[in-house]
Amino acid sequence: GGSFQDALLEGLNPQQRQAVLYRGPALLIIAGAGSGKTSVLTRRIAGLLATREAWPSQILAITFTNKAAAEMRERVQQLVGRQQAEGMWISTFHSACVRILRREAENFGFTKSFTIYDSADSKALIKRIIKELEADTFGITVSGAMNKISKLKNELSDVESYARGANFNDPGEVMFLQIFREYTKRLQSANAFDFDDLIGQTVYLFRAFPHVAALYQRRFRHILVDEYQDTNHAQYALIQELTRPVNQGDLPLDLQGKGHLDPASLTVVGDSDQSIYAFRGADIRNIVEFERDFPNSTTILLEQNYRSTQNILDAANSVISNNFDRKDKKLFTTIGSGEKIVGFTGYSGHDEAQFVADEITKLHDSGMAYKEIAVFYRTNAQTRALEDIFIRSALPYRVLGGTKFYERAEIKDAMSYLITVANPLDPMALRRIMNVPKRGIGPATEAALQNFADNNQTTLRDAMRNAQALGLGPKVTGAITGLALILDDVQATVDVPEGVAQAKPSDILKTLLDRTGFIEALRATRDPQDEARAENVEELLSVTKEFQKNNPDGTLLDFLTEVSLVAAADDLDDTSGTVSLMTLHTAKGLEYEAVFLTGIEEDLLPHRMSAGEPGGPAEERRLFYVGITRARQRLYLSLAMTRAQFGEVNVAMPSRYLQEIPPELIDWKQSPGDATSRNGTQPRALNARRGAFGAEGSLGTGASGFNGGFGGGFTGSGSGYENAGGPSATALARAARNAAKPKTEWANKITGTVRDNGDLTLAAGDRIRHVDFGDGRVSAVTGEGTKRVAEVHFDTAGRKRLLIKVAPIEKI
Ligand code: ATP
Ligand code: MG
Repeated sequence: GGSFQDALLEGLNPQQRQAVLYRGPALLIIAGAGSGKTSVLTRRIAGLLATREAWPSQILAITFTNKAAAEMRERVQQLVGRQQAEGMWISTFHSACVRILRREAENFGFTKSFTIYDSADSKALIKRIIKELEADTFGITVSGAMNKISKLKNELSDVESYARGANFNDPGEVMFLQIFREYTKRLQSANAFDFDDLIGQTVYLFRAFPHVAALYQRRFRHILVDEYQDTNHAQYALIQELTRPVNQGDLPLDLQGKGHLDPASLTVVGDSDQSIYAFRGADIRNIVEFERDFPNSTTILLEQNYRSTQNILDAANSVISNNFDRKDKKLFTTIGSGEKIVGFTGYSGHDEAQFVADEITKLHDSGMAYKEIAVFYRTNAQTRALEDIFIRSALPYRVLGGTKFYERAEIKDAMSYLITVANPLDPMALRRIMNVPKRGIGPATEAALQNFADNNQTTLRDAMRNAQALGLGPKVTGAITGLALILDDVQATVDVPEGVAQAKPSDILKTLLDRTGFIEALRATRDPQDEARAENVEELLSVTKEFQKNNPDGTLLDFLTEVSLVAAADDLDDTSGTVSLMTLHTAKGLEYEAVFLTGIEEDLLPHRMSAGEPGGPAEERRLFYVGITRARQRLYLSLAMTRAQFGEVNVAMPSRYLQEIPPELIDWKQSPGDATSRNGTQPRALNARRGAFGAEGSLGTGASGFNGGFGGGFTGSGSGYENAGGPSATALARAARNAAKPKTEWANKITGTVRDNGDLTLAAGDRIRHVDFGDGRVSAVTGEGTKRVAEVHFDTAGRKRLLIKVAPIEKI
């Protein structure tokens, strides 16, 4: 009714209203970060449901991550009620395609219980093929072949189409073609799709089987896609297939003449300044050419940012304006200028991490919840220093998309048991568990089984059932047939006749673990690592039980689907009450009160690998833009003078992007100039580069003093040092020598020794000495056992929270 309409449009600006109320074939919303694109999509869905213009089942909304999908579902439910929102497809491209393929795979030679290979599985398979074909002698690497296949699949190129364009005079190319062909063949015979196939094969399905396409074209009346700038060609093609007019003749007889036959209405939202997946085949042209693809479309621009303060927005606008080939967008906000951006240069990654931890403690003390705070970085390797310090400071945190629970060997083993039961055709999963727990089945036996399977044109699983025929020793034969029997028994509880209930995932897993002695075998080694592994497997059991609670009718396949998608994309980790740590890529679409952007250095941002790529530095700049625009109120930019990576300590240079932020917006707590005073000697290369900043007066406060000194050397040419050649080899060597010094004195203190103060008794009032912070007085001790935390007021370093067990402290 009217009141709902009012509620739906409440607070929206005119362009946002127009976008929510638009009814027609195709709508494009392009707008900068934080302008309400995702909010508008959400309200559009709510509006369609509330007015009953659409059933929930007629809506397909695509988000970029599972987390984003969960949030959108939540918000729609808040607007229209839980029941009204049931049956809606709000998911990632991958999840939507898995659902379609589970229903339709039988049309083209797969079964609905297909396995989804994650990138580790694909890698293992490609490695095996390369070994068999001896392709490495052609200079083909596993990751090279893997990336190339992935790229081809994202462009919807298959073996045949690749072969048509291949240069058969190039032996390397011929060999690659053979790998690609073999890989495709083995996926098919394993009844498996790799991650890229999920989308590519769905497109293929729709193109090859019009009667299947017609069902989905008819079903989905409203398709909405968030983050459209990051769609690749395969995803683009999928949308194209789903928005074709429905051909009546392709529908089953009972559906013909009923329902709508117009193409689905399409809404896409995006921001070309936030396109950060070109390296994975995302094509910015998809957004640029939308108006050509959908000639009857309407375009709406949103210009008001509702997320960030003016200072943060000014920084973001200023950075992104350095990219060419973009339409200038004028984002404004009415939130006010807010606090200045805080800058900090540490001596090392640990020093930087300590700054981050200290500032988070201050924010928390001033009333900000931990869950409103996020720390971003360019590479996963940077988490180590951060986690190190966070644990010592007793800060509750969670690493998003990085827990990698499902990548642990023991979890993959246990999951492989489930996969083998679900999909007996998959030899990869079976090979993985053949000798786990150890039962004396070695590589030679496995090869004999595979040989038998190949010669008799049967599966590896079947070969195991017939192991007696192989003439192996009685013990190993017994082990093989014993395993085959367990698998067959459990399988019988899954492959049940129509109308009989399947065994539940948690019971299936429990039976498999019990009958194979999986957990006992880990416990029997008395290796503490194995004990941890046993606990992880028990955790997996809890996951299955949790799944069951949330999905009372959930089948084994449902469980495997959920796990493979969550594990491959991102996780739905509970971050209530914790600080969130994640890569800049994971941060897309999210927002936080306070954001820490760490490692703003050359070689990290822009990343070293981007240098040779066409458009690489521009894409890295967009990544920086995405990071900045996640912040609502507070933004921190930090870097370190030296960075430990890949077992080396390297001199780090401030990122070129820092000088693209107007200097008056940043309040440097410790600039590169201050940092040099700590170790006495000025690392000359650092200083020279700072000169480039200094010439524009952009970095640091007057007191930091780096406008003088060695500066100016690289400022001569144009915009500064981007064109300026760089420091000489000797200057770099000297800088590296100097930089190594604080590393040994400072970073080693923190990382070098594992200490255990578990027995140290502390009470309020005690005086202590800390290796780095000096002397201080304990004001409180909280927590228990290994989680005891001391709050200490240091005489000079201020207030800190320390995890007693690991803090480098002693009582004085
Ligand atoms: P991004 O490009 O980062 O994905 P976005 O354009 O999708 O951003 P949203 O996340 O939808 O932006 O919105 C940003 C913030 O602004 C959210 O907190 C949202 O609730 C708020 N917001 C959006 N529109 C309005 C409005 N009209 N009035 C008040 N707040 C709004
Ligand atoms: Mg958004």
